[in-house]
Amino acid sequence: MIKTKKDIRALTRDELRDYFVAQGEKAFRGNQVYGWLWSKGAHAFEDMTNLSKETRSFLDEHFVINHIKVDQMQRSNDGTIKNAVKLHDGLTVESVLIPTSSRTTACVSSQVGCSLNCKFCATARLKRMRNLNPDEIFDQVVAIDQQSRLYHNRPLSNIVFMGMGEPLMNYNNVVKSIEKITAPDGLGMSPKRITVSTSGVPKIIKKMADDEVKFNLAVSLHSALDDVRTDIMPFNEQMPLQELKDALQYWYVKTKKRITYEYVVWRGINDQDKDIEALIDFCLAVPSKVNLIEYNPIDDGQFQQADPEAINRYVAKLEDHGITVTVRRSRGKDIDAACGQLANKEA
Ligand code: SAH
Repeated sequence: MIKTKKDIRALTRDELRDYFVAQGEKAFRGNQVYGWLWSKGAHAFEDMTNLSKETRSFLDEHFVINHIKVDQMQRSNDGTIKNAVKLHDGLTVESVLIPTSSRTTACVSSQVGCSLNCKFCATARLKRMRNLNPDEIFDQVVAIDQQSRLYHNRPLSNIVFMGMGEPLMNYNNVVKSIEKITAPDGLGMSPKRITVSTSGVPKIIKKMADDEVKFNLAVSLHSALDDVRTDIMPFNEQMPLQELKDALQYWYVKTKKRITYEYVVWRGINDQDKDIEALIDFCLAVPSKVNLIEYNPIDDGQFQQADPEAINRYVAKLEDHGITVTVRRSRGKDIDAACGQLANKEA
């Protein structure tokens, strides 16, 4: 009979300490192993050089470290890097490094595929296969941090959960990964530099508020009119805008954190004054700002980027109402690494 080895990263620090004590060793060995796993991102027991050879091979006999593997890396001419990440069971997700003059951002995936069906998103065409584990999310961050140091001579500065999947449909694992990313005995990054992006799952937004999470929240809004939003993001039928608005108000009262709305303007879909007015109303309900993001075509005739005049009207009217708005240029488009283009396409 083949004995399956246990994934050591499923153990907490205390469980690791207890394990060593049960083996007749000192508890602090558990801390050492924990540090190797979560602070130094070790992929093999043999790398844990402050443990004896015997301990290392003992661990190797009983445990595995199910780490991810960057299977393929593509570099864009704007410095963006897209990774195809192979998971231990052979499935693939993608993660992206986005450099600007002042920061390097990791865009990480939270699920293999996605269960939502946003009509304009390439990931929606992949069936949701499974949730990522906390360590699989953590590993994407470690890999991108290493690439940032190697190719841009600086550590990773920001993380956005804007890769494949809906983070709030894998909430527990996302939160656990962020705990490891931010813990002083993990990567020690500030939660202020982490943004979780959601299509808008009201129930979980309220839970996040109750949990008093310290990271930032972005919502992919794209329309503040129910009929338009339901057309392009069909799940909106079950989670309509009023529920979303209530949840976001609840979030702000509890966390005092301003919300970012991501918004693409498409020709003939949401480029009229009524669309802008609805967005203004929605924004005035909770302290927020708007990122107007460029549409990245996904070989679909239905969606086209709106004319520059429509974007200018959005900007002018939002600003008239004192709402902060930024127009975001796309990055990594030439390698299908931009928002909504992640679909495990071969290079
Ligand atoms: N499910 C989460 C996380 C994915 S983030 C969410 O929806 O927020 C990916 C972002 O890219 C979202 O804001 C999404 O609406 C946007 N997006 C999807 N397809 C796009 C496309 N083709 N062009 C531009 N942005 C797109």
